[in-house]
Amino acid sequence: MCVDLAVKSMAASSSPCCVECGAPVPSIVQRLGADSVRLARCESCGHVADKYAEFEPTLIVIDLLLYRPSAYRHVLINRQVLRGREEHEALLWRLGGALLLFDAYLTRSRLGGGGDRERDAADAAGAPPELEASSVAFAAALVALALAELLGFCAAAAAAARSQLGARACESWRQLLETVVLSSFGRSLVLLDMIWVYPLAFCRAVELFVLLCNGIAIKVQLRCSTPQAAAIVAAGAAAKGLSQLAVVAAWYAFPRD
Ligand SMILES: [Zn+2]
Repeated sequence: MCVDLAVKSMAASSSPCCVECGAPVPSIVQRLGADSVRLARCESCGHVADKYAEFEPTLIVIDLLLYRPSAYRHVLINRQVLRGREEHEALLWRLGGALLLFDAYLTRSRLGGGGDRERDAADAAGAPPELEASSVAFAAALVALALAELLGFCAAAAAAARSQLGARACESWRQLLETVVLSSFGRSLVLLDMIWVYPLAFCRAVELFVLLCNGIAIKVQLRCSTPQAAAIVAAGAAAKGLSQLAVVAAWYAFPRD
């Protein structure tokens, strides 16, 4: 392990946890000498507190795809301890920006014109002339809509978390937003649809996959049971689904000549 990373870990103010059992640990690494460190062990379960500290990013992503809670604990809690808050926030901004663009693309698909599968519907409906006049403004509107849907998802999930778990639901609203953004990495699979244009079921499958990732992440971050996490994600998904239905209804109700 890189000694600089280890020192940063020990100096970080955030509290790390054991990725295996979730128990708080004082540090992810132990310094053995001036230039030597090793991964610390958890006193609760006896396992290495965070084996992912030495993993390649690709291996961590694979474990995230396999829904391993230990990988989610590393990414959501320990990564910022190891890498520093600044680097963690940089990842959040990049991932958050990509998430909004992918959501905007999915919204465009729902409205028609998202690919060959929707071409007939797009030809039939057509975009409102005011929006066609400025594709940049239309794209900006889709991204703003994606942001509103993300915030709506988090607001509904936060309300459900408070009703399920009480005041300890989450340390802050920002923590929940970070959890949702980080666990929505699977939405990048939409890139495949942008290239090859799959059946609409593919996009639905991606959204379902992301919701499952959100559920694992919320379970890990809020330390709640699987049914509680499912209820929290369902509340967020319901809010987002309702807003999407409203947008589609408004789109087709828009007067066209
Ligand atoms: Zn442990």
